[in-house]
Amino acid sequence: MKIKTIQNGNIIILILFLIVQLVMYFFPNSYERLKEKQETYAENGVSDIDNGWAYFLINEEFPLEKNYSPALDYVQGTFMMDERCAEYARAMIKDAEEDGIDLCVVSAYRSIEKQTENLEAYIERLKNEGLSDEEAEKSALREIAEPGKSEHNAGLAIDILTYDWWATHDDITDDFENTEEFEWLNENAYKYGFILRYPKEWENTTGYAYEPWHYRFVGVYYAEKIKNSGLPFEYYYKMNF
Ligand SMILES: [Zn+2]
Repeated sequence: MKIKTIQNGNIIILILFLIVQLVMYFFPNSYERLKEKQETYAENGVSDIDNGWAYFLINEEFPLEKNYSPALDYVQGTFMMDERCAEYARAMIKDAEEDGIDLCVVSAYRSIEKQTENLEAYIERLKNEGLSDEEAEKSALREIAEPGKSEHNAGLAIDILTYDWWATHDDITDDFENTEEFEWLNENAYKYGFILRYPKEWENTTGYAYEPWHYRFVGVYYAEKIKNSGLPFEYYYKMNF
């Protein structure tokens, strides 16, 4: 009888241990610890990993510092990105062109002021379409990040469509995923350090609607790993810091 009790106790401890392991697997770092590491990364980067400086989250949980303003360089037309990743974007566009894929950049770096304008304009538009103030704001924030919480504010994100697609659309919509250009990006963007940042099946994790046009520079090393993991950046980052 006594032995049985001990065994039951052991089983309960074992189950608790497994639950803790499972939780640790998905959430290995506490928020505070991550935040601290995030700040260290932002300051120093990681010298032994290709473009380790670009491996950090920018989202609701991790906004940019108020005065974040990267040095910029052109990627296409008047569109610019952080000068440290602009050459990767240019190389991607050029190589795509050689494969017969004409990529058209529709957004890249946006200043925090510009982000504020975009968000306010979009909220206005939704209100004009009949949404209440609260609904309009909530809905707009699913599509456009708050100023300082967008990867575009860091010069690390690029929105890419094609001239043909754009000519037949008034707005950016998911059906860009049905183009050969999307297929090319989906297959090749990681080689230039870019990841599809807001995948379709992870909307609840990223907090953003699926965006087949939005690519985020994280460096070639991490882009390949993240793509192969099949995970959204948030999960991959928290599991592999
Ligand atoms: Zn974007």
